[in-house]
Amino acid sequence: MNFALPEGIIEFRDSVREFAREHVAPSAEQRDRDHHWDPDIWRRMGEVGLLGLPFPEEYGGQGADCLTTTVATEAFAEGGGDGGLTLAWGAHTIIGSMPIVLCGTEEQKRRYVPRLATGECIAGLGLTEPASGSDAAGSMETRAVKKGDRYIINGSKMFITNGPIGDVFVVMAVTNKARGAMGVSAFIVEKNFKGFSAGKNLDKLGMRTSTTSELVFEDMEVPEENLLSKEDSGFARIGRATLEWERTVLVGSALGSMQSLLDQTVRYAKNRVQFGQPIMRFQATQDKIARARMYLDAARLLLYRSALKKDKGQPAPTESSIGKLFTSEALIQVAYDLGQVHGGYCFIHEYPIERAYRDARLGTIGGGTSEMMRSIIAANL
Ligand SMILES: Cc1cc2nc3c(=O)[nH]c(=O)nc-3n(C[C@H](O)[C@H](O)[C@H](O)COP(=O)(O)OP(=O)(O)OC[C@H]3O[C@@H](n4cnc5c(N)ncnc54)[C@H](O)[C@@H]3O)c2cc1C
Repeated sequence: MNFALPEGIIEFRDSVREFAREHVAPSAEQRDRDHHWDPDIWRRMGEVGLLGLPFPEEYGGQGADCLTTTVATEAFAEGGGDGGLTLAWGAHTIIGSMPIVLCGTEEQKRRYVPRLATGECIAGLGLTEPASGSDAAGSMETRAVKKGDRYIINGSKMFITNGPIGDVFVVMAVTNKARGAMGVSAFIVEKNFKGFSAGKNLDKLGMRTSTTSELVFEDMEVPEENLLSKEDSGFARIGRATLEWERTVLVGSALGSMQSLLDQTVRYAKNRVQFGQPIMRFQATQDKIARARMYLDAARLLLYRSALKKDKGQPAPTESSIGKLFTSEALIQVAYDLGQVHGGYCFIHEYPIERAYRDARLGTIGGGTSEMMRSIIAANL
């Protein structure tokens, strides 16, 4: 066992954090207020290779492993203080693109991955529907029917990150209802396919610098060569290949958020004077700060463990579910406790803790709720 990150990852982490401090943090508050998606920051992220970080180099990516990608996500969230942009990045790179990287044919990879790596094309995943969330496969209503050399897809998807701005989506649809989860297929869908439309950007509590919308498919025509993986095997295969990436890399954002809140709060508590002394001197404050540090350390070890297992080619369904469950719940607790240390200022928009508290709320819902993580952990016992 070795708890130290390799030197190369440390240097890379520091450079990602610096990039986010310089290009993301200065405008984060205003973009959150305006619900603004910023294509210029996205372009810069593409220029420095962040948008294709875990893709193989032969398709224009950086070839980073799961640990490096998780640490980069953590550093980006820490330096940028922008949960929404970190989410948009994860939705593009991990859940939108990795299914193509891991399960696509050579032709599909050559056609899509290089443009996804630069950010010229933005990706997303269309799994959730208005009436199907946790029971994603069982309650799925979107249907794909083969007609000649194309599939005709009808249905809709809900809460899709990058929905309003995305160019390419991995969309799940039922091809064989009788087979349940084993009758769901995945398709690579382009926004200009006939019958595709995206709804308006949803007004959200948090993650407001990302975009989220419904996707609607009305007799949408998808060429048969855009079937991803074999027919009927999309949900099972893609789920197996990419879910653990999602439950590790995307959750890395929560680590960065906790680190940045902790640093800000320690500074605040040392400077804020009440009853003639810095509030840091009060045991009640120390208790919250020590607990936040404890949660951060434990969450970091859990996520790095899942990432290392992935990098060794070992399945990590229980580990990644534990990591996601613990880290997302810890972030909510940490944001609450450290907000309390800020007193009334935690309620004021220009204090980053206010935004972080709202952004934190998504963690126990998106990518599988805490209840579903508990259910997976128990099922694996
Ligand atoms: C901002 C945002 C971005 C998102 N991005 C995407 C995206 O890019 N792509 C995508 O496909 N989806 C996305 N989602 C959807 C997200 O993954 C779902 O919201 C999530 O999986 C929960 O589904 P649901 O909202 O339908 O809740 P439901 O499944 O209806 O759950 C409601 C409640 O019931 C509980 N529950 C349900 N079943 C059980 C059970 N068996 N045991 C115990 N409790 C249960 C849940 O835990 C929850 O508390 C996003 C959501 C949000 C809010």
